[in-house]
Amino acid sequence: MSSASSVRAEVTMPGHLDSDELAEISLCPPDPVRLTPYQRDHLRLCDRCRGELAELRAVVRTARGISSEDLLVEPPASVWESVAARMHLDDDEDA
Ligand SMILES: [Zn+2]
Repeated sequence: MSSASSVRAEVTMPGHLDSDELAEISLCPPDPVRLTPYQRDHLRLCDRCRGELAELRAVVRTARGISSEDLLVEPPASVWESVAARMHLDDDEDA
């Protein structure tokens, strides 16, 4: 027999999700399965936490956009200039 005695912990309302939880949720794809029933219920009922989560998601999206752009950013012109200068030197020596 399964003891379905889920201990009803004292729900301290308003038990807002803490910022660590919200941050973790915001990093995951919006997948309700990953949330605990409490988190799911709370986000459904609590405008404040939902709003905070939406903000965090926007921040995460922006941060990811910035970092992926950073990786694709071209090296500064000075790098190309020194490379070009070296190639020209080689050309001169060869010719
Ligand atoms: Zn809340």
